[in-house]
Amino acid sequence: MTAKPAAAAARATVYGYPRQGPDRELKKAVEGYWKGKVTADALATTARELRRSNWRALADAGVHEVPTGDFSYYDHVLDTSVMVGAVPERHRAAVAADTLDGYFAMARGTQEVAPLEMTKWFDTNYHYLVPELGPDTVFTADSAKQVAELSEAVALRLAARPVLLGPVTYLLLSKPAPDADPGFEPLTLLDRLLPVYAEVLADLRAAGAEWVQLDEPALVQDRTPAELNAATRAYRELGALTDRPKLLVASYFDRLGDALPVLAKAPVEGLALDFTDAAAGNLDALAAAGGLPGKRLVAGVVNGRNIWINDLTRSLSTLGTLLGLADRVDVSASCSLLHVPLDAAAERDIDPQIVRWLAFAKQKTAEIVTLAKGLSQGTDAIAAELAANRADLASRAGSAIIRDPAVRERAAAVTDADARRSQPYPDRAAAQRSHLRLPLLPTTTIGSFPQTSELRAARAGLRAGRLDTAGYEERVRSEIREVIGFQEKTGLDVLVHGEAERNDMVQYFAEQLTGYLATQHGWVQSYGTRYVRPPILAGDISRPEPMTVRWTTYAQSLTDRPVKGMLTGPVTMLAWSFVRDDQPLGETARQVALALRDEVNDLEAAGTSVIQVDEPALRETLPLRAADRPAYLAWATEAFRLSTSGVRPETQIHTHMCYAEFGDIVQAIDDLDADVISLEAARSHMQVARELAAHGYPREAGPGVYDIHSPRVPSAEEAATLLRAGLEAIPAERLWVNPDCGLKTRGWPETRSSLENLVTAARTVRTEL
Ligand code: GLN
Ligand code: ZN
Repeated sequence: MTAKPAAAAARATVYGYPRQGPDRELKKAVEGYWKGKVTADALATTARELRRSNWRALADAGVHEVPTGDFSYYDHVLDTSVMVGAVPERHRAAVAADTLDGYFAMARGTQEVAPLEMTKWFDTNYHYLVPELGPDTVFTADSAKQVAELSEAVALRLAARPVLLGPVTYLLLSKPAPDADPGFEPLTLLDRLLPVYAEVLADLRAAGAEWVQLDEPALVQDRTPAELNAATRAYRELGALTDRPKLLVASYFDRLGDALPVLAKAPVEGLALDFTDAAAGNLDALAAAGGLPGKRLVAGVVNGRNIWINDLTRSLSTLGTLLGLADRVDVSASCSLLHVPLDAAAERDIDPQIVRWLAFAKQKTAEIVTLAKGLSQGTDAIAAELAANRADLASRAGSAIIRDPAVRERAAAVTDADARRSQPYPDRAAAQRSHLRLPLLPTTTIGSFPQTSELRAARAGLRAGRLDTAGYEERVRSEIREVIGFQEKTGLDVLVHGEAERNDMVQYFAEQLTGYLATQHGWVQSYGTRYVRPPILAGDISRPEPMTVRWTTYAQSLTDRPVKGMLTGPVTMLAWSFVRDDQPLGETARQVALALRDEVNDLEAAGTSVIQVDEPALRETLPLRAADRPAYLAWATEAFRLSTSGVRPETQIHTHMCYAEFGDIVQAIDDLDADVISLEAARSHMQVARELAAHGYPREAGPGVYDIHSPRVPSAEEAATLLRAGLEAIPAERLWVNPDCGLKTRGWPETRSSLENLVTAARTVRTEL
């Protein structure tokens, strides 16, 4: 390991920090604003306070350069759309009337206008709002937010570096506006967009920015030569500007591959690269490209996406190697710390020994500072930190908590037959038809019903000891009665129990599985004001007892219609948790799948004829590079089948996925061998139905006709129109009618009207068949 001091003192920095505040103050303020209980001024004050305390925390921890502009009321991609003036036609009136309300109208829609489409931010669980661009898009620079936030940090006398989404990634993440040709390529707008970036850069320089970071994570995906050319052109042009700050182009989540030489040669002053295992290959590629002579390299050696402590010795060795490859090496996390919770020290319910294995944003910041110090001053300067780190790593590696021999034996004994149903799909489908006797275009929902404030209060009461288990469970049962009664009255065909007992679709199971850790405060932004607390896959996974059976059977006891059992699939259990970094993901998935298989079999034995195993995360966990995908899809689809293949042919297995763009995994969806799939489709006008049809997908499918991400109620006519569009792709015998996703984030009034309209739409369209 290299211990000699670097030529220039290494600086510690991060690209972004959790936005919500220690007590989710931002969520409360924004939602309060939506309800009219918090004024715009009060919201702005809360936001400014949060930014200030984050910067202070970073600076006090020893971070030399703090990020600005990473803060957002809702989403940083939406902020970028505002920055470049890309407001869709349908939102212009709202934005003109009130900037803030217009902003939220783009994010959430209003009764009159639909919001922007929302999709996954690369392979994370963060969602961004997809910019809509067309040949008529006119970009105009609005640097107000970036300049204001930089000025706040400057006023605090902090060295600050504005972080912007780069122009190439911005365009690559965009989609054609509704009135544009669907084949329109937003990247063709690059020449129009660059002058706007030039203007923003000039404004930031005038406001005191020495450096500006431009994030180009889209360049870690497989890119065509034309796209790489666009990147070359973009940075040649931005680099050639005279009135600009120094430019740091950042990438993360995977290796840069062919884009590495493009950026290395670009006339910019620095690159920020991911050097974690997720981006293996960057180090060798950088060496092969001759390094970055004369440039600044920001080395993302601390994993910004998991919650395990860093191996500081190993990172120092990587940093030592990098010292020979650039003019100056600074230390950072691999990506924004937006993707991890704030502070592991807040987890008082986790064994203190285990807490020492965990690093959230605050602990990662300390690791970054330690590494920068070690790199600048030599390892002696951080001897105590290194010793403590070695001891913590050893305590984790040797702990009995993480190894269960029975689980390992069972997983090792799995055969191919265990992951296959006893009959092929067409035979099962016939058996299910005569068993279930559903009408054409059967209606159903995705599982959850509104999580009312009484329900949340009851759960909080249970946690605080104000309510006993019996009282809480009666509360849940009464909710189930209400939900079943509503569905019967509304005329839905396949009912659900409503998931009243679940705080979250992953956490609920994680709390009942051995090997998982739950956090109390580990909130991470999912989208807008929605935060989740991903549990931690810490050890080998087993199921001590049934997890859902009593709720499903209770619901079934109240009705003659089939009640769908509801589970979260193995891939999603992994994707929405923090995963182990000490064994292959496929190994962990198989352990979870076996635990779920027992639950599926128990549900069937208790009389459940329809069981849904949700896998909304199958697509999001897809590796960013095509070369890495087959191996992932092999273990992912096997894990799903392993959990669902223990049932009889007449038991109908459903799965559910959200968030568009399924084109590239239709084969994998087919390989799940589920009988029915429901998918998000309302915002994309049933695009997914056409993709399934183009693939020749042979099974039943329910592309969503009700966008549940918005409080907007779709009319029966609107739902019927979507349904007819669905019928153009999928024959009536195989088409289901359902919302895009679960209803837990919705209120009862809009849920009631929307589902009534959905059933009316199904009835209307049935008469047209
Ligand atoms: N069954 C879950 C629900 O209805 C599915 C949620 C999801 O796909 N994200 O809430
Ligand atoms: Zn969903």
